[in-house]
This record gives sequence, C-alpha cells and structure tokens, in this order.
Amino acid sequence: MKVALLAEQAAGERRVAATPETVKKLIGLGAEVAVETGAGTAASIDDAAYAAAGATIGGRAQILADADIVLGVAAPAPESLSGAKRGAWLLGSLNPFGDRARIEGYAALGLEALAMEWMPRITRAQSMDILSSQANLAGYKAVLDAASEYGRAFPMMMTAAGTISAARVFVMGVGVAGLQAIATARRLGAQVSATDVRSATREQILSLGAKPIFVEKVAGIEGEGAGGYAGEMSAEYQAAQAELVSAHIAKQDIVITTALIPGRPAPRLISDAQIASMRPGSVIVDLAVEQGGNVEGSVAGEVVQRHGVNIVGHRNVASRLAADASALFARNLYNFLAAYWDKDAGRPILPADDEVTQAIRLTQDGQVTNTRLTA
Ligand code: NAD
Repeated sequence: MKVALLAEQAAGERRVAATPETVKKLIGLGAEVAVETGAGTAASIDDAAYAAAGATIGGRAQILADADIVLGVAAPAPESLSGAKRGAWLLGSLNPFGDRARIEGYAALGLEALAMEWMPRITRAQSMDILSSQANLAGYKAVLDAASEYGRAFPMMMTAAGTISAARVFVMGVGVAGLQAIATARRLGAQVSATDVRSATREQILSLGAKPIFVEKVAGIEGEGAGGYAGEMSAEYQAAQAELVSAHIAKQDIVITTALIPGRPAPRLISDAQIASMRPGSVIVDLAVEQGGNVEGSVAGEVVQRHGVNIVGHRNVASRLAADASALFARNLYNFLAAYWDKDAGRPILPADDEVTQAIRLTQDGQVTNTRLTA
C-alpha cells in the first residue's frame, strides 16, 4: 500500500498534508510513503526530515505512478495528477462546490476523491475535522493580523507618561475560529464582546470572559442547528441584528468576522455605513472574505482602507501559520486513514453504508457520486 504526498501548487498555499510524524505513523500501519521533492519546504520541513522518517523522495510522476492514496492540502488540478492509478484515493480540501469541472476531472481519471472538509460533525470524526483544526489557527492569526494593522496597543497600560486604554474587540460568529479569536484577544488584554445567531454560544462567550451581544427580540437558532452549523436567518432577524450591530460597532476598535453558512455565500454583517461609524485607525478582519465576505468592501487577498478603517482580507489564513496548520491537517488525514485501516487487507477500507464515506466521497468508478453534487 503506497501513499504519495504532493507538493502544493496553488498560489499562496504553504501547508503540506503529511509531516514526518504522520509519515512515521503511516509506515507504522504498514504503508510505504513517497514524498514529492520539496513538499514541506514552505512549512519548514525539509526532504531530509521526511527521509529520516522513512519516506522516499521523488518527482511528481514518480511518486504518483504506483500510489494507492494521494495526500494534498488544496485541490490539485486534474492535469497535475495524470499518471495516477485508477482507483487511487485523493484526500484533501477539495472545495467540491468551487469548481465542478475539477471534480469531473478526478472522476475521469478514475480517482476516488475524498473531500475532507465534508467530514460530518459527529463525535467519532472530530479528530479528522480539517475545518476545525484550520479554523482554530485562523481565529488566532486573525487577532494577530488585527493587532499588527492597529496603530495602538491592545492591553491597558499605565505608564509614567499616562494611561493607554484597552482596545475594544468585537467578534462576530462564534464557531471554532471565533472562540479562538475571543481567547486570543483576551490574552492580549483587550476588552472583548461577541455575537452569534446560535444561542448556545452565549455560555461559551461568557466562559471565555467576554461579553455576549445578542439579538433579543427575534429568536435566533437554538442549540447547534443542523450538524452544528448555522442556517440563513429571516429578514426580520437580519434587520434586528443590523440595528444591534450598528449601535455596538461604532464603539469598537477591532472587529473580527467569521460567520459562515455551509454551501451558501457568507452572510453580510457589516455595511459601508457601519464602517463609516467607526473611528479612523480601527481595523476589521474579514475571515469569510473568500466565501463572499461578511464585510462590505472587503477584498480577498488585500488590506483596503475605507473611511479610515483598515479592512483585512487575507486569503487562506491558516496557511500563514504553515507549520502548525500542516501538523494539525496531517494528523486529521492520518486519524482518518488509521480509523478505517483494515489490518488483514493492509490498507484502509471505506464501508459503502458508512456516514463518513457517504459524506466525503465525491467520485468513484469514473463517476461523480456524492449526492450533494448530483442532486
Ligand atoms: P462555521 O465556520 O460554519 O460558522 C462560524 C460561525 O458563524 C458559527 O458559529 C455560526 O453560527 C456563525 N454565524 C452564521 N451566520 C451568522 C450570522 N448571520 N451572524 C452571526 N453569526 C453567524 O462554524 P464552525 O466554526 O464550523 O462551528 C459551528 C459549530 O459546530 C460549533 O458549535 C462547533 O463547536 C461545532 N463543531 C462540532 C464538531 C463535531 O462535533 N465533530 C466539529 C466542528 C465543529
């Protein structure tokens, strides 16, 4: 059973889908691992470290030719996979709704494409969840990015030259990224408030020492919602939320937005008029910028200024912490392979009736098979 680790080709992608640690563990299961030359360089892992863990190193054509399982981070172009064996698995963050032609391309190559971001949110799959592991780091980095754009300090400081007041940070969307953003901003000494549509987050916000800001007059989503995700809110809720946010946002120095709705464009949470109400020098970080943006005027891949407010729209924020993001991503993939490993077969086997299989498998036997893509 051979596993191939790809070097990433997407612009700005610095992560890698296996580390020497997970290579060693895969070999421990009985796999052979081949690493594409330079695969880990951008995540500070050199070829020698993979070789020391027991992998062979080679060019792309060479490592693909006899691979049963191909590991990547971002979805590779099908052309870059030609020469792979029919029936081989392709694991990664495959962005299934992003580019249908690419998924058709995997089917045409006979690959079994497994989209790890469609892992169901069930207890046994938590350790395989790339969205959570990467969102956690993105939430942390968003606060550091905000701090570095902000021309003032986060903590209150009492100095001989006078007192500096603490920054006020508002986090919108309290999922995995938002919770880490709250915790990080608190560690830096900011005064933090946060909001979400899921009422279950109120307790979580309080437990991190931040202030919950909630729409009271229209019901939000109780508990976790379907699969732990939010849905689209009613027009009445959106109007009440806009009113509440308008009053609050004008007093904030930093706003971090993380709100996402699976399979839909990100909800618009901040309007141009609301940006104009903030004082010059304030910073907004839009972590949803690649899904359409929570903030009017945010631009993917850029820091733009509107009404004197810096709006940060970095792409692929987890990749900006490539070493840690790779370590966690790699463990997610390893945990998945190990959970389905069949000792007798000497390889992982995905039962057809399994909830995880059905959720993440996009293509099989030359066809696009996932019901979210065929429906
Ligand atoms: P996400 O990335 O899909 O969305 C981020 C946050 O934005 C969510 O909290 C969502 O409620 C919020 N949001 C959506 N629309 C909004 C709006 N209009 N205004 C304000 N906020 C809005 O969510 P996530 O980070 O993936 O996590 C969602 C939940 O799933 C969390 O409770 C998390 O703990 C849970 N989860 C469970 C598992 C598991 O059981 N395996 C794994 C991961 C996450």
